[in-house]
Amino acid sequence: MRVVFLGAPGVGKGTQADRIAAQYQVAKISTGDLLREAVRSQTTLGLEAKNYMDQGKLVPDAVVIGLVKEKLAHPSCANGFVLDGFPRTVLQAEELGKALASKTMTLDRVVNFQVSREDVVRRLSGRRSCPKCQATFHVDFAKPMVEGICDRCGEPLVQRNDDRRDAIETRLKVYDEQTAPLVRYYDDRRLLSPMDASGTVDVVFQHLSKVLSPYRVT
Ligand code: AMP
Repeated sequence: MRVVFLGAPGVGKGTQADRIAAQYQVAKISTGDLLREAVRSQTTLGLEAKNYMDQGKLVPDAVVIGLVKEKLAHPSCANGFVLDGFPRTVLQAEELGKALASKTMTLDRVVNFQVSREDVVRRLSGRRSCPKCQATFHVDFAKPMVEGICDRCGEPLVQRNDDRRDAIETRLKVYDEQTAPLVRYYDDRRLLSPMDASGTVDVVFQHLSKVLSPYRVT
């Protein structure tokens, strides 16, 4: 299974990518998670990426393309992968295509997650994240058992800098300008599956499983 999850920030791609990766034993490659890890470890790459991320802007293509290529070469991708948050520009999509072609591989599907703009803003502004294990919660829709504490690892939850109002606006603008053209790009290549992602996590997961079932490793 080699799939891309496409969609604006806050549509639930990451949550669904976690579940699909666990269910089908494929790797989840989230460029956002990889970059946040680099920021936490204060690597050169992380220090370079931090400013872009805090403002809600895209990290330069060369940086993320390098990260993804490295991950694709890893044995954990042997069964396949779910790419979450990559590609985000046409150049990234082209480079992904080339990297796969060099291994005589292609993408199976690109799932386009769709949620109203109003819902996206509500989901992002109420999101709280665990800085340690990356689990996410929501102040209204997915409360942790103890307020402000991660259910999985007991860390205090935080609001990501880029989940604040001004950064959300920038991220949505960046999505419209730089990432939305990928809908057309993948539709032209007959890879796109639209996905209504406005339902509950379970309902979306059921629909997603149907769309992806032809590609699972048996
Ligand atoms: P995410 O967790 O996917 O919303 O990503 C958080 C932030 O990481 C984004 O707002 C960007 O600053 C950066 N980022 C993640 N993926 C990419 C990508 N494919 N290209 C450029 N920047 C990215």
